[in-house]
Amino acid sequence: METGKDAELEAEVKAELRPSDSDSQTSFIRGSDLFGYVGIEDVLDQMRRKTMKAGFEFNIMVVGQSGLGKSTLVNTLFKSKVSRKSCSSNYEEKITKTVKLHSISHVIEEKGVKMKLTVIDTPGFGDQINNENCWEPIVKYVNEQYERYLREELNINRKRRIPDSRVHCCIYFLPATGHRLRPLDVEFMKRLGKVVSIVPVIAKADTLTVDERQEFKERIKQDLAANGIHIYPQREYDEDTEERVLNDRIRESLPFAVVGTDKEHQVNGNKVLGRKTKWGIIEGECSLSHLVLLFGCQLKWRR
Ligand code: GDP
Repeated sequence: METGKDAELEAEVKAELRPSDSDSQTSFIRGSDLFGYVGIEDVLDQMRRKTMKAGFEFNIMVVGQSGLGKSTLVNTLFKSKVSRKSCSSNYEEKITKTVKLHSISHVIEEKGVKMKLTVIDTPGFGDQINNENCWEPIVKYVNEQYERYLREELNINRKRRIPDSRVHCCIYFLPATGHRLRPLDVEFMKRLGKVVSIVPVIAKADTLTVDERQEFKERIKQDLAANGIHIYPQREYDEDTEERVLNDRIRESLPFAVVGTDKEHQVNGNKVLGRKTKWGIIEGECSLSHLVLLFGCQLKWRR
């Protein structure tokens, strides 16, 4: 008797689980229908749709002395005029007595994916004869954004979508001197490295030969290690073997040698972003892959 019941139950279960065919009266409604069948595989799809609709927020800070090509590089990365200088036509470039922070936001859309990009510029950094403590307003700004976000999160009536002004990534521009890190670079990266992911770049790398560039990179790496400076990607991001292999590849090429430009030139019938020199055209080294890489920078929370 028992086995008969079991067999009946098993048949029922099998019938339930059988995928619906076209002649069958009982057909399953797939996950796109709100009140229909929702399977685990639909969760990913739902999350993707929601995220695409809401878009991403990415806040990038650029730090370095005036004239190192910060605005040009940011414009090269995003292939449009997104930096401070090119946005405000009547902006007067002047040496400020103290470090000022300017932020500019844009909504970029590509293939249906929206991204709110905020570029935070730090004019005046390192431009004085005495640059003592010129990193302080920057550290203060970064910390304030964390605190602001945390306050919103702790609020009982918190917003469904908290505006995110936290700095996701700080691109630090090193002058292409070919020597070593300067005391200012060491001090800045030591302090900021504790609160934000730093990506050091060698500015105007076209002014160095290939050998000089390689030697400079090696010296910078030695100085970073000697001063205990942690840059992106930090070891804690090596969550699995795949991540570690990818991060190791990034570590090998750091600090990135970058060439920025916002002028297009014709090369073999194709338009390329490049710098025209007496000896030929140097193609801008920044590409979308660099942007994607920066976008991978995760927030560094204070512990
Ligand atoms: P910022 O003050 O750091 O924002 O610097 P800008 O982006 O205004 O650039 C200052 C000058 O450097 C401009 O004349 C740029 O054309 C030039 N420049 C920018 N990027 C590069 C580069 O990669 N190589 C060279 N050789 N010059 C550059």
